[in-house]
Amino acid sequence: MNRILLLIIFLAIIQISLAAQVKKPVYKDKNAAVESRVKDLVSKMNLEEKILQLNQYTAGQNTNVNNIGEAMKAIPSGIGSLIYFGADPAYRNIIQKKAMEESRLGIPILFGFDVIHGFRTVFPISLAQACSWDPALVTVAASIAAKEAKLSGVDWTFSPMIDVARDGRWGRVAEGYGEDSYTNAVFGVAAVKGYQGKKLSDPYSIAACLKHYVGYGESEGGRDYHYSDISMQSLWETYLPPYEACVKAGAATLMSSFNDISGTPGSANPYTLTEVLKKQWKHDGFVVSDWDAISQLIAQGVAADRKEAGYKAFMAGVEMDMTDNIYFQNLKELIAEKKIPMAKIDDAVSRVLRVKFRLGLFDQPYTTLIDESARYLLPESKAVAQKLTAESMVLLKNNSNTLPLNKSVKQIALIGPMASNKTNLLGAWSAHGNEKDVESISEGLEKEFGSGAKIKTANGCDFDGTDESGFAEAISVAQASDVILVCLGEKREWSGENASRSTIALPAIQEKLVQELKKTGKPMVLILSNGRPLELVRLEPLADAIIEIWQPGIEGGSALSGIVSGRINPSGKLSITFPLTTGQIPVYYNMRQSARPNSGKYQDIPTEPLYWLGHGLSYTTFEYGNVKLSANTIKKSEKLTVEVEVSNTGKVAGTETVLWYINDPACTISRPMKELKYFDKKELAAGAKTTFKFEINPLRDLSYTDATGKRFLETGDYFVIVNNQKVKFEVTE
Ligand code: BGC
Repeated sequence: MNRILLLIIFLAIIQISLAAQVKKPVYKDKNAAVESRVKDLVSKMNLEEKILQLNQYTAGQNTNVNNIGEAMKAIPSGIGSLIYFGADPAYRNIIQKKAMEESRLGIPILFGFDVIHGFRTVFPISLAQACSWDPALVTVAASIAAKEAKLSGVDWTFSPMIDVARDGRWGRVAEGYGEDSYTNAVFGVAAVKGYQGKKLSDPYSIAACLKHYVGYGESEGGRDYHYSDISMQSLWETYLPPYEACVKAGAATLMSSFNDISGTPGSANPYTLTEVLKKQWKHDGFVVSDWDAISQLIAQGVAADRKEAGYKAFMAGVEMDMTDNIYFQNLKELIAEKKIPMAKIDDAVSRVLRVKFRLGLFDQPYTTLIDESARYLLPESKAVAQKLTAESMVLLKNNSNTLPLNKSVKQIALIGPMASNKTNLLGAWSAHGNEKDVESISEGLEKEFGSGAKIKTANGCDFDGTDESGFAEAISVAQASDVILVCLGEKREWSGENASRSTIALPAIQEKLVQELKKTGKPMVLILSNGRPLELVRLEPLADAIIEIWQPGIEGGSALSGIVSGRINPSGKLSITFPLTTGQIPVYYNMRQSARPNSGKYQDIPTEPLYWLGHGLSYTTFEYGNVKLSANTIKKSEKLTVEVEVSNTGKVAGTETVLWYINDPACTISRPMKELKYFDKKELAAGAKTTFKFEINPLRDLSYTDATGKRFLETGDYFVIVNNQKVKFEVTE
């Protein structure tokens, strides 16, 4: 008996010590290097498991009107990624549990979502954010969005959009940082830093996705999903640089675009996806297709069927199929037919897994559950939203200091369809934004003025249509007031995806309302909320002052009211040019000089746009001293410092952004009339002065790329342009 007991104990000890010797696989060891973990896991996966990692399905309620119709499919436990339309972390955890416990190897799912300008704390649209010229603040806003998203079960945002966009008819101008390549690069990097934090594995970091790679902003006629004819020169000069900057800043993923790039769609383009992105820029994360962009290769005329579409997209360098299910259905066969090599599958899977490991998903697959009130709309988040919103509003016109409103103003008429509207202030792609969080313009003004002034509101008309029945009331409210604030603009769904317009003017009914109000003879301020530049040729002459508030998000009402009262001094400057009429498009600040600068003008309208990029007024005045150069001639290898002293010559404190441009008047290729190379923003007390500096690094700031992306720096004369000064210097060997 004793012997049997001893034997049992002996065997048990052996078993325990053997079990201790069976090591955890490397991929499960959080102390192992990411690359070893990736390699180990890929070596253990079978083909089905690998292919599933390259597919993205959806989960939760779809809030994007363009994508409704995609029913929630049964989610395989081995799926690579899900677009998560919910905001409930517990639901995400249930799905994740299925992946961790039911898939053979326990590979976590990557949950993605469009967190474009905030998650629940909704900030202004990206186009507006760029008007703040405050990338540091944009980083803070993106980090707030990341934290709210992460705590709601999202690991990956399909943002930032860094498509240079010069055609206001295209609804998606709202989603990017305007018409300039450098501005898109700076703000794109700012957003990536905010989303991804110091490390992707930090508790509140999410992975960024640069989109839409590449050239989507060039869609013909401003029509979404349309052909884009992009020369190799403009690809390298205009469209690729923001992507290169953000890839260098560590962006984890990219999304391939819907558009054609001169005959080869962005989602089947080996040159942009593999040659440039993976080989030249050494990006080691992955590319996800845009929604159904792979099947759309058939409509674009480069694939006969779904299988060929999948083959082309995959071989070009798209690693993950968003919602098409083409990779799931066809990759296995394509491998069996030896059309797709196994090594390419392994590389694609490794890229997806690398991002998952970097995010720490294997070690922390579940979302920590905390109460909604601790997740969203924290006072410090709202304070950031308020600051960014105020900084992104642009005072376009202010005749005779109409604004800020004088203390003697006792009766304010608040007219127009946007006056009490909340939903539209949230803007396009507002994630889980809720109109109950929004402060409307009327609420903001009531709070701001309290008993100091009486505010009477009348809609006057709707956003469009022909119903003028509200005009009479609006006019009588206006007649009884000291000043009229007219709140006009666009519905949120007029911007964003699949929201092109043939004209960028506001609907005629809104213009007519302004014409009627003008007849009252009262001072009139236009407050514009829209997602694109507007044609203001008929409205501008009627207004004493104009404030562009864009689609400002939840703090729109309070930020605007601060500007109206003078509590906030506006400092925003346009990140996109406002054409005089739609017919001027394309018109953008960095156009090339015409061969006959004094000819080729329009016969029927002025050729100048109404407001160039960089336009924006303040309640104070800034005077620029003479630009000083540290040298008039520098060698290619030397740097040049340019300085300008700026004085606040007005009566109130204000913030000025100095935009520094370069011009190369004679070069091997013709160069733009000016190219933005640097900007800097500083606050100045009344009467104070400060020096703004720009250190010109010739290789970075004066060079150009040719049509293959090769960079050249030429000797000769250059100009630095700031405000209205243009100063020459020379570069020698
Ligand atoms: C849009 C993308 C978006 C994706 C996922 C597409 O229709 O073009 O910008 O990220 O849907 O919602």
